[in-house]
Amino acid sequence: MSGELPSKSDLNLLVSVNGQILAASEAVFSLRSFVEPLIPDLVHAAEATDVFLNGRRYTVQRQILWQAPGVALGILFTLQQPATKPLIDPRLGEMALTLSSKLDIDHVLENVVRFAMDLLDADAGALPVYDPDRERLLPGHLVNLPVDLVAPAKGSRRGLMWDIIDQGMSLLIPNYAAHPMALPDLVRIGVRSLLATPIIDGSTPLGILALYRMRDEPFQERDRDLLQAIARQTAIALQSARMYQRAIRNADERYTLYQASVEIGATLDREQLYQAIHHAVNRLIPHTGVAIALLNDQQMVEYVYLVTPSGRQPAQQWPLTHGVAGYVLRFGVSLRLSGAQTLPEPALQPAPEIEGDLCQRSLLATPLVVGDRIIGALLAWNDQLDAYTMADLSALEMLAATVAVALHNALRFAQIQSLAMTDTLTELHNRRHFLYILQHEVDRARRYHTPVSVAMVDIDHFKQVNDTYGHLAGDQILREVAQRCRQHLRDVDILARYGGEEFGVILPETPYEAALLAAERLCRTVMATPFVIDGQFLKLTLSIGVATFHPVSHPDPSSLIADADRALYLAKRRGRNRVCGAQELSTYAEP
Ligand code: GH3
Ligand code: MG
Ligand code: MG
Repeated sequence: MSGELPSKSDLNLLVSVNGQILAASEAVFSLRSFVEPLIPDLVHAAEATDVFLNGRRYTVQRQILWQAPGVALGILFTLQQPATKPLIDPRLGEMALTLSSKLDIDHVLENVVRFAMDLLDADAGALPVYDPDRERLLPGHLVNLPVDLVAPAKGSRRGLMWDIIDQGMSLLIPNYAAHPMALPDLVRIGVRSLLATPIIDGSTPLGILALYRMRDEPFQERDRDLLQAIARQTAIALQSARMYQRAIRNADERYTLYQASVEIGATLDREQLYQAIHHAVNRLIPHTGVAIALLNDQQMVEYVYLVTPSGRQPAQQWPLTHGVAGYVLRFGVSLRLSGAQTLPEPALQPAPEIEGDLCQRSLLATPLVVGDRIIGALLAWNDQLDAYTMADLSALEMLAATVAVALHNALRFAQIQSLAMTDTLTELHNRRHFLYILQHEVDRARRYHTPVSVAMVDIDHFKQVNDTYGHLAGDQILREVAQRCRQHLRDVDILARYGGEEFGVILPETPYEAALLAAERLCRTVMATPFVIDGQFLKLTLSIGVATFHPVSHPDPSSLIADADRALYLAKRRGRNRVCGAQELSTYAEP
């Protein structure tokens, strides 16, 4: 068959008037031994001749090139292999050219239908596209046909179009209306005959090229060959268009993943990290909901980040038996769901409060794995069925690899940080963190002229508790005092173990009088209910000193603490179990 095609390997040869080769095109070199003996004849031949090189016939054209008027530089010979047979239709070559220059898949479809209609004198045409990922026929491109008339795109694998796909054979129906499987809607708009052929790449169906005639002049058997030739040409164009689109998508994904990993790797702050992950998912996968779930210390699924169409949802936790994330965490597998029939029964119990109604939507989920541990799951879902392909899932999986490591690092960092900030006995903030936050609050108060107060709290006669009940019992009491105080403070108040049996409280946005009241509340909660040790009741009391920040008297946080401390010792001196404020100190000067 190759002999039918025109050879692209024309031979160009520049020869001097005395028969020396001055220049030659590349194709000449392999044929040099055949060319050289012919040169004297070629130079002296007066007109165009044919020559044989290595068994092939070439037509020779000659042209003299001039260096200057009257001075010949040499003779340019062009040796061409004549095309033996024309194409079935020269326009088919034209079509191939147009298609190969248009890699956008929509252009390919449109051009194919137009060309085919033109070549075969059809009145209408269609190119339904086969989507192997979801095993469905999409309407593709239609000319002179209402979209909803392409019935094969809908529902079950039945109808003439599916037969063409399944059998991989072309179909000619000269009298469409009389055919038992004719679509009534097509008959109604006047379709008289149909000619259709599958577009196949190897054994993979890519689509169908279908032509319709409305006039009383049915397609003939000989039309089939031409349509099949067009379909073969189309398969090549469609395949490269698809590959091109996949290449675009891959390149796009790689870039997005790269950007995501830079963004995700740049932060150890968990909240920022969740945002960066969401940002990356946005760019990779169209979705209406996204969730980051982590396996927490209690072996529960903790949704640390959950966004639905109504916005960010509060963090929540569920048992491992609940929802897609639980399933992914238990089995360590990715899921691509679309509707009820894809749910992995019976192990998956849907969680409508998280993922919505899975029977009505598509969902992608993938585990977050670090080493051999599954630390969480990443989910995205969509309100439409069949919204996701395998390519979408693998994009999410690739993102998950980066996300898992970043989340793991951020969690570890938070753990280490909180260890460094927390007192292990009482689980309150430690002194270091107390001072750090106080600095911050004092700066803020100075800048915005808002009040901030500090209370220093000391347990009365605590030494006796240790002496009487032992150090372990003392520890237990310390924990309980810490708990009671925590319960009687606002969330924004910072309660810290300042040292030994002494606590510090930062009361943001709290003026002096209000701080005294808050301190009274702490005194009361400890005094009101006795503690129980070894079945015995033990009454305890607190002494508390309170001071409120003043920009002049408190140049730094430690001077504020010192005032509160002095007030605390005043309370001790005055008999304990009481609150004293810095304004009661004799040294306190109203600035
Ligand atoms: P007051 O404050 O009323 O003057 O008397 P106090 O007995 O509480 O005062 P002091 O500061 O003399 O004693 C504090 C005691 O608190 C000393 C120590 O045994 C005890 N203590 C400090 N830290 C801890 C701790 O972590 N665990 C236990 N069990 N006891 C502690
Ligand atoms: Mg004490
Ligand atoms: Mg003390």
